[in-house]
Amino acid sequence: MEQATQQTKNVMDVWQKRPLIISGPCSAETEEQVLQTAIRLAATGKVDMLRAGIWKPRTRPGQFEGIGVKGLPWLLQAKKVTGLLTTVEVATAKQVEDALNFDVDVLWIGARTTVNPFSVQEVADALRGVNIPVLIKNPINPDLELWTGAVERIAKAGIQHIGLIHRGFSSYGNTEYRNAPMWHLAIEMKRRNPGMLMINDPSHISGRRDILQDVAQTAIDLDYDGLIIESHIDPDHAWSDAKQQITPERLGEMIGSINWRK
Ligand code: PEP
Ligand code: MN
Repeated sequence: MEQATQQTKNVMDVWQKRPLIISGPCSAETEEQVLQTAIRLAATGKVDMLRAGIWKPRTRPGQFEGIGVKGLPWLLQAKKVTGLLTTVEVATAKQVEDALNFDVDVLWIGARTTVNPFSVQEVADALRGVNIPVLIKNPINPDLELWTGAVERIAKAGIQHIGLIHRGFSSYGNTEYRNAPMWHLAIEMKRRNPGMLMINDPSHISGRRDILQDVAQTAIDLDYDGLIIESHIDPDHAWSDAKQQITPERLGEMIGSINWRK
């Protein structure tokens, strides 16, 4: 099917937009799912960038580990049709190379990668000489030195536009949150990196839909620069993180009902 092509915005214009809103599925699953999510997100008029996991770092084996390179053309098609910029998680040099080959606009480093200096360094080395913005999630454990170390490795590779994503910190046992926000740590990281983009990830903090909006509102009240929230055309049947995903329309409503500045 021929789809209309939208003008894609300039990456730096979008990077500087406040609030910066990123949304899309936890995982790219099928061509249709990626395209329909992007079309419905774009229709809300509230989203700047499409996220989708192509390679999924699952804590335990035997779960969906991502569609792989096959999904990258789907993202490129979604960008052409909607004009939304794209972002994916990368954890190896090969993944960086593949993502760049398919014109991904922004890369992100996941929480399970930020904890590993060897992996962060591998990604950093693959990025040497490349001009692309990189978002760095906090490590899964509450260690600001690891988060800072990842920022330093990526910065030393010459990446000029680095942003932070606060996705909460894991702990043992059942808690209210899937990953405790520990807001004070993110605030300290903001203090250490003045002017650096700081985005909140209510989806991975909450792990469920009912508290997403409260977490998002807290982040905005704390002067975060933007939000990354997972969305899916059929959240209950998502191949990963089903409990925390919302439809594109619900995402639009949520963004619309946030109180942006006190
Ligand atoms: C994700 O964004 O889907 C993801 C795997 O996140 P995190 O690295 O925060 O667990
Ligand atoms: Mn996820």
